[in-house]
Amino acid sequence: MLDWPLVAQTTNDDPLQTVTDFFGSATWDFIVLLFYFLVIVVWLACAYWVFKDARRRIDDKIVLAVAALTGLVFGPLGALVYTIVRPPEYLDDVRERELEMRMMEQRLASEERCPFCRTPTREDYLVCPTCGRRLRTVCPSCRRPVDPQWRVCPYCEAEVHSGAGEFENAYR
Ligand SMILES: [Zn+2]
Ligand SMILES: [Zn+2]
Repeated sequence: MLDWPLVAQTTNDDPLQTVTDFFGSATWDFIVLLFYFLVIVVWLACAYWVFKDARRRIDDKIVLAVAALTGLVFGPLGALVYTIVRPPEYLDDVRERELEMRMMEQRLASEERCPFCRTPTREDYLVCPTCGRRLRTVCPSCRRPVDPQWRVCPYCEAEVHSGAGEFENAYR
C-alpha cells in the first residue's frame, strides 16, 4: 500500500520528466542546432549545384542568373524545378556537335568527284584516274592545274585560255 503512489509516480511522471528534461537539455539544443546547420548546408549545396550545372548548360546571362536565384531562394525545391526545366544538353556538347556538323559539311563540299564517272578526285588532278577524261588544264605560265572555267590563273595571274592553254603554250 505504501508503495502504490511511488509506483504510480515512477510509471507516470518519470518518463515524462525524462522527456521534458531531454528537450530542455543542452543535448537537444545541440541537436536542433545541428539540424538547422544541416538544412543550411543542404540548401547551399542545392543552390551551388544549380549554379554550377546551369553555367554548363545556359549561355544567356539573365537566364543563368534566374536559375541561380531559383536555387538560392527555393533550395532543394528550386533544384528540383530546375532539373525539370533545364536545357537537356551541355553547352560543350552543343558546340562540339555544331563543329562536327560544320566540318562534315565542309568535307562534303570539298569532296570533288569526276563529273563523268563520279570517281572521287583531288583538286590538283588534271585527268580522272578512272575514266581518263580531262578535269583541268595547266597554267601556261606556272604549270599549275587550273579549272577550264577560269580565265585567269589564280596563282600567277597569267591569262588562261580555257581548254587549250596547255597546248597553246606547248606550240608557242
Ligand atoms: Zn572519271
Ligand atoms: Zn599560273
